[in-house]
Amino acid sequence: MTQEELFKKLIAHSKEYGFIFPSSEIYDGLSAVYDYGQMGVELKNNIKAYWWEAMTRLRDNIVGIDAAIFMHPRTWEASGHVGAFNDPLIDNRDSKKRYRADVLLEEHIAKLEEKIEKEVEKARKRFGDSFDEAQYRSTSPRVLELQKERDTVHSRMVKALTENDLAELRQVIVDAEIADPVGGTRNWTEVRQFNLMFETKMGSVAEGANSIYLRPETAQGIFVNFLNVQKTGRMKIPFGIAQIGKAFRNEIVARQFIFRMREFEQMEMQFFVRPGEEMQWYEYWKEFRMSWHRALGFGDDMYRFHPHDKLAHYANAADDVEFRFPFGFKEVEGIHSRTDFDLGNHEKFSGKKLRYFDPETGESYVPYVVETSIGVDRMVLQVLSAAYVEEELEGGDSRVVMRIPAPLAPVKAAVLPLVKKDGLPEMARSVVDSLRFDHNVQYDEKDSIGKRYRRQDAIGTPLCITVDHQSGEDGTVTLRHRDTMEQRRVAAAEVPAIIGRECGLRTLLEKLS
Ligand code: ATP
Repeated sequence: MTQEELFKKLIAHSKEYGFIFPSSEIYDGLSAVYDYGQMGVELKNNIKAYWWEAMTRLRDNIVGIDAAIFMHPRTWEASGHVGAFNDPLIDNRDSKKRYRADVLLEEHIAKLEEKIEKEVEKARKRFGDSFDEAQYRSTSPRVLELQKERDTVHSRMVKALTENDLAELRQVIVDAEIADPVGGTRNWTEVRQFNLMFETKMGSVAEGANSIYLRPETAQGIFVNFLNVQKTGRMKIPFGIAQIGKAFRNEIVARQFIFRMREFEQMEMQFFVRPGEEMQWYEYWKEFRMSWHRALGFGDDMYRFHPHDKLAHYANAADDVEFRFPFGFKEVEGIHSRTDFDLGNHEKFSGKKLRYFDPETGESYVPYVVETSIGVDRMVLQVLSAAYVEEELEGGDSRVVMRIPAPLAPVKAAVLPLVKKDGLPEMARSVVDSLRFDHNVQYDEKDSIGKRYRRQDAIGTPLCITVDHQSGEDGTVTLRHRDTMEQRRVAAAEVPAIIGRECGLRTLLEKLS
């Protein structure tokens, strides 16, 4: 199965089992907008809880807020979003398709890198044990040629983006002979800037009403509340403010399912530090955030850092955490050193002081900020794509199993009476009742036990608890594990503790401390 086929299957599976639906589907959907179904919302909530607990509850110096989506329009002038939150877009005149010029180039660069890796792998097979990779990379004419092409495109792209030179950006696309991925032709328009913010009107009458924006990031709600939180919470630098909430971007190209949406959710934390100490905190947060991802157990080689080619208008250092999605390594999280840009500009635009008096140094200053910013939806996609497995079983049978880390699984356990009689349903229901105060559990009595196991595998339920005739006699039940399909008998009274141990967030959080 190719990665593309796998991705298509994942999208179909997500819909079939109630994880993700296209928005307003009965009207044929709305481009790049999705709804979470009964399983999706549980998964999403668990991801948010994992982030929230790791970032706030386990720490003395980070607190949370929940700011409004609407903000005073001056906010977005101060933050630079009105002037600079643009993507360069380009159209193909034949296919009428629209692309982000930088994304077309990045994909071209990724293809060249892939070609280089293929050459190296071919040579490795040819030369066997005597293969000297470094020497091959520095001498193979084909590899050198590809590397030179990649480096030229890359450096021209970075320069054009940094200098905001749209004509040159187009020229790089033309010179690299990049064709429309859909139509295949090279009939490109000029490159134009496109502002990504959604604008709407506030007030009951349109006339004279103020234009306001749907926030394109949650961070600004934190900056404008910096002093409120610092003073009322008596916070001492260094400290952080965390927030989870919706953000909106009028993305030019919305593709790859929930990877790029127009309405999405972010989990952001702004960490306020002394000027001059930002790089050490930047390194700290890079490392911590990577360990948060790796604790999920999908494999360390599924992640990498990717330093930004072009720094945003507010940053002096920026790295992405990239995850290996079925469509390649792509950003799930950004870690940015935002300097004093945001607080400094809000001071200028609002005329209010946003300073911190440092009792240790006796100085008053605008703090520097290190930000960690992750998309909830991209995390959902990370978990779903890493978890989806098709397995051949003994006896010619097969199953789809979602190996979702147990603490994130939508349903922790399913309680199944072996048959629908002899008092087994009543017994199973009393097990459910004892569990539901602490865990999301399901009761299921329909179809054969094998079919019920498959249904639970398909939504990633870590444990199935089967109640049979023996249960009535000795108070035991059968516990089946999703991944190994192993079954063992345990006392029903032990089940709550087992679920807590195996499916609690604690198992993830302990890996971080
Ligand atoms: P990209 O380069 O993919 O457009 P970005 O660098 O603009 O992303 P940031 O502004 O750093 O993204 O936003 C922080 C995080 O918010 C991203 O790492 C991503 O997880 C999430 N995010 C950003 N845009 C979207 C979107 N359109 N849909 C879903 N999640 C998004």
